[in-house]
Amino acid sequence: MAWFKRETQGIITTTEEKKEAPDGIWNKCPQCKKPLHYSEQVENQYVCHYCGFHLRIGSKEYFSILFDNNEFTELYPNMVSGDPLNFVDTKKYTDRLTETQFKTGLKDAIRAAVGKIDGQDIVIACMDFNFIGGSMGSVVGEKIARSIDYSIEHKVPFLMISKSGGARMMEAAFSLMQMAKTSAKLALLSEAKVPYISLLTDPTTGGVTASYAMLGDINIAEPGALIGFAGPRVIKETIKKDLPKGFQTAEFVQEHGFLDFIVDRREMKAELAAFLKMMKN
Ligand SMILES: [Zn+2]
Repeated sequence: MAWFKRETQGIITTTEEKKEAPDGIWNKCPQCKKPLHYSEQVENQYVCHYCGFHLRIGSKEYFSILFDNNEFTELYPNMVSGDPLNFVDTKKYTDRLTETQFKTGLKDAIRAAVGKIDGQDIVIACMDFNFIGGSMGSVVGEKIARSIDYSIEHKVPFLMISKSGGARMMEAAFSLMQMAKTSAKLALLSEAKVPYISLLTDPTTGGVTASYAMLGDINIAEPGALIGFAGPRVIKETIKKDLPKGFQTAEFVQEHGFLDFIVDRREMKAELAAFLKMMKN
């Protein structure tokens, strides 16, 4: 009965031939290294249920967590970057853009949408780290500026979810101009007395920290998020001193007065709804 008796002994499957669980089904928590199943991650809003580590997610996930019934209307969805400097590094900037758009299904490192949180209108602009490190170029700046215009026009509060490595090198000075542009727009938003909540997630650095991310009426962050301007090595070399423990974590930044609250992602929607209600009254 060959079909249930093992005839050939010592069958060895090489590593390459072994079938693995499809990508994205299982993930290892970067902090506690325990395996996390995809459905568990979704259920727990992409927070490790063993150690509370907040996994890095993008606009699609944030929208699904925050907007009521995942219903929203995307604003300015078709904005794409030009190549004002004909920039080439290891590859042409235009090629890099096309490739990244194809790989991520995103047009640039930010998406904006209008919808409701607990029945209250809100505009959310959310950055995507998958798209060239969440770098801030002209599309990111322009989309934020137009979203703020939309907020002013319709008197709808604005929530910015930052996640960025800083300015986009390939657009050089055009990237830096976005800092001034978005800051000026936020001043208009403030004049119009429309609330602005800034949510800083892991990581928020460089020109983003130095402009819109820190200008909220309320600045909140997710636990453990890296928040800073320059990298620790550069700072260490400049001040010629060792940096304190936990430097540039959300907790450290809050202790030093730059953040109002640190909010667990699983409580984020309820907290935001409470803030919106409070600011309306
Ligand atoms: Zn964990």
